[in-house]
Amino acid sequence: MIIVMQENAPKQHALAVVHHVQELGLKPVLLEGTERNVIAVIGDERIMDMHVINSLDGVEKVMPVLAPFKLASKEHAKTKTAITVAPGVVVGGTQIAVMAGNCAVESLGTTLATAKAVQAAGAIIQRGGAFKPRSSPYSFQGLGEEGLLVLREAKKQTGMPIITEILDPRHVELVAEHADILQVGTRNMQNFELLRELGKVKKPVLLKRGMSATIEEFLMSAEYILASGNANVILCERGIRTYETATRNTLDISAIPVLKKMTHLPVIVDPSHAAGKRDYVGALAKAAIAAGADGLLLDVHPEPPKSLVDPDQALNFEQFTVLMVDIKKIAEAVGRTL
Ligand code: PEP
Ligand code: MN
Repeated sequence: MIIVMQENAPKQHALAVVHHVQELGLKPVLLEGTERNVIAVIGDERIMDMHVINSLDGVEKVMPVLAPFKLASKEHAKTKTAITVAPGVVVGGTQIAVMAGNCAVESLGTTLATAKAVQAAGAIIQRGGAFKPRSSPYSFQGLGEEGLLVLREAKKQTGMPIITEILDPRHVELVAEHADILQVGTRNMQNFELLRELGKVKKPVLLKRGMSATIEEFLMSAEYILASGNANVILCERGIRTYETATRNTLDISAIPVLKKMTHLPVIVDPSHAAGKRDYVGALAKAAIAAGADGLLLDVHPEPPKSLVDPDQALNFEQFTVLMVDIKKIAEAVGRTL
């Protein structure tokens, strides 16, 4: 970190900053200039609170040299992290990991039919929400524990690992018992207590980007899980809030290369929740793979209009199957497999 003092700041202000840095256990180097003083800080600056330094007398600006996240950064792990979800099922390897299924678990019949159809088309992980985060308290909230048991039964029949959402820190043990990947939804990206609890389990966590979160805030949330002891974090871009209303959210395609540059963690994309409309899901899914995403999370339903949650965005089996054929071609063009 470089701390630049104001032009007319007396030397004792610079010395007070030096003292503050020393007290934190870091090494300050005071560079006395003709115009102004500058203090270079040697050591892990992430333990310093930028706002505190900024508020010290005589400080003009503070320039961090390290990213505020550590375990999620490329400095921590130089090579890309690949996460093994189940034997032979990897997220972040050469194969594009497609996770597909119903938005919410509705019944064993629907779940099973969907799981078999998406598996036949090439998906390797089945999705389904048992606990649903709904904007309205009067909307269907999911089947809860019963939904987890339905997913488990489908897994028994297809062998496909399960991804499902965790909403409540009190449910971590329960969901981790049944799920292979625990999903943190966009509304919970900054539920730090939940993130800390998820750091205590060993199961992979799929962390969705908050709909109004910057990429740095997104990585700071991943850092909570990593710093609490769970190294298996998968990032998911799912669209952000913008002024645009033609789609539900705006898929931030640029987040894919930006994240790839900033972190070693796998990055997947959810075009279904980004678009909110099935007509656009395919184009966004293809763009995501072309841009370097490691996988996709897709809503699929046997009869989309009858889906209990998000009926506008689910693909039917045929649409999903056709999309998978297209994705395969794009995956191969960018050196991946499906
Ligand atoms: C979901 O994937 O079911 C979901 C609710 O997504 P998001 O958190 O991105 O809205
Ligand atoms: Mn949904």
